[in-house]
Order: sequence, then C-alpha cells, then structure tokens
Amino acid sequence: MREAMANACVGDEQSDDDPTTLELCEQVAALLGFDAGVFMPSGTMCNLVGILALTRPGDEMICDRESHIYGTEAAGAAAIAGISIRAIDSPHGIFTAQQVADAVRQRTRTAPRTTLLSVEQTTNFSGGAIWPLKTLRAARDMARSFDMKCHLDGARLFNACAATGIAPAEYAAGWDSAWIDLSKGLGCPVGAVLCGDRDFVREAWQWKYRLGGAMRQSGVLAAAGIYALEHHLPLLAQDHQNTQTIWETLLTCGLFRFDPARPASNILRFTFASDSLDAGMFARQCLERGVRVRDIGGNYIRVTTHLDVTADDAATAANTMVEVARDLTRLSASS
Ligand SMILES: *Cc1c(COP(=O)(O)O)cnc(C)c1O
Repeated sequence: MREAMANACVGDEQSDDDPTTLELCEQVAALLGFDAGVFMPSGTMCNLVGILALTRPGDEMICDRESHIYGTEAAGAAAIAGISIRAIDSPHGIFTAQQVADAVRQRTRTAPRTTLLSVEQTTNFSGGAIWPLKTLRAARDMARSFDMKCHLDGARLFNACAATGIAPAEYAAGWDSAWIDLSKGLGCPVGAVLCGDRDFVREAWQWKYRLGGAMRQSGVLAAAGIYALEHHLPLLAQDHQNTQTIWETLLTCGLFRFDPARPASNILRFTFASDSLDAGMFARQCLERGVRVRDIGGNYIRVTTHLDVTADDAATAANTMVEVARDLTRLSASS
C-alpha cells in the first residue's frame, strides 16, 4: 500500500484533476451503484456533508440512538447543519419501518419537518449487527412514503457484504447517498468516498469545499484506497472469522454476556455475567496485557478485529480477556 501511494499519479483534486482520486471515486461509485462519488477526508465528513446536502436548517433526522452520527460526531448535525435528531431505540441498531413511521412528526406549524432517515450498515456501537436486506428496504420505503431523503452510513458496508454475500449496490439501491470508509476494515490511513446522483455530488462538493475538505494531490491517499479495494477487500472475511474465534473462546468461560448474542461481522459487544465487573477496569487490565478493547459506556466492551490482527493474535487476545475477567471475578469475590 505504501508503495502504491508513493507511485501514485497525482494532480489537483479541487479542480477534478487528480487522476488517481477520480479513479477511486469511479470505482466506489460503480461498486455502490451510483452516478458519482466524492473523496472525503473522513467518514464523519461524509455524514455531515450528506446531512448538509439533503436537509435545511430546522429539519429533523431519524436515526438509531446508538448510531455514530448521533453520539460520536460532536453534534455536527446540530452545530453545523442546524438540524435536530429524533433517535430511535432498537435492538442492535436495527429498527422497523413502523418505528420510522412512528418517529415522523405530524406536518404542523409547530413541529420540525422530518426530512431525513439515516441508517448504519453494519452498525458500529450496537455491536456490528447487519440489517437484513428486507428490513433495510422496508425502512427506506417507509421514509420515502413521507417524502423523506435517505442516507446510508456505510462506513462498514463492505463488512455486511463480506458476511452475507449481498452486493454493496443491492444494499445501497434507492438511497440518496451512501458512503464507505477506507480507514476501517480496508486499512487505509485516511479517507472515505461519498456517493449519490450527479446533483447530490455537486451539492456535496460545495459543502466539502466550504468545510475545508477539498484537497490537492490527494492521489497519494486515493492510491491507498484503490490498493485496498483490490487487496484488502477479500480479507474482511478473515476479520469476521477472527471475531468468531474470540466469541467462541469467551463463550466457554461463562463470564460474559453478549449483545448481540453472536457476532455478525468484525465487532463483538459484551458486558459481564456479574455486575461486579467494571468495563473500564476490564479495558485497562486488558491493555496492560497487550490487548486493546474499548469501554463504550453502559458497562459494555466493544472488540474490533482488523487487518493487523492475525488468527493467532485473535486467539491470544481471547485468552487474555478470559484471564482478565477471571482475575477481576476472583478479586471482587475476595473483597
Ligand atoms: C467509523 C464510523 C464513522 C466515522 O468514520 P470516520 O472515518 O472515523 O470519521 C461513521 N459511522 C460509522 C458507522 C462508523 O463505524
């Protein structure tokens, strides 16, 4: 990847004149089934620009309560786009068409206009769950029936595809905007690609420019993306396998409670069978023993596997997590 970056052919991205960036955008747009795509510095900017292009200040967006766009983007939707968010409570970030309908405000003088639906495929903090295609389409169609726009946060879309064998374009069909992250499972240092029809991408470009996201010789970064699509995309299935391995090892000791019950992609989310175990303490002790897991609040731990974690690493990490949980259980019993 570093070599591909060093050898990249570059130009000026701001003038649509960086050949490598154009190539990456074309490739991703084709994969997702859209007219065009725009290269972004981050997934967070894809979400923000998507919202800016699809709403007006004072509008309201529907999304899941645990979604990245709601809780992990420094309230960009409110601070910059001037919209409010109506969050839906759901198991694992997957809600029903009826829940969408129930969250839409009545059209009155006093209510904000509900104009946008955002869905994560796969979910992130909800534990890497995958929306079944039927459920995803039902939510989209319900939003459409209220004349709403639909935004697909596909930071981890390729993980869903790797797990189900369903093509990215099938998941993204009929959405106004959809994007994929290059810096998650694909292992690039930077970047994401936001896709839509030509009008959407024109609008998205203006916002990208306004926000300071336009670049110059971005081909150096885009080359990493092109390399990852070719070489790293097929490796996502291994991350899923490694997550299964970790889950299976953790399952046998009985000290963890999984939510979802089993991992669907490269994310495993759990809390503890005993209330006396603390997620913060667990994460710190794991790190001391060389395993980085994340305390995501609510006494939950999120474990994410990726390109740099081998099958052996996954086995070692799982054993370490079991040891730490056993040690903490013993400690709490003796105090
Ligand atoms: C990581 C992630 C984002 C944000 O992407 P960045 O590239 O880190 O800004 C948004 N949504 C989901 C579902 C994610 O997993």
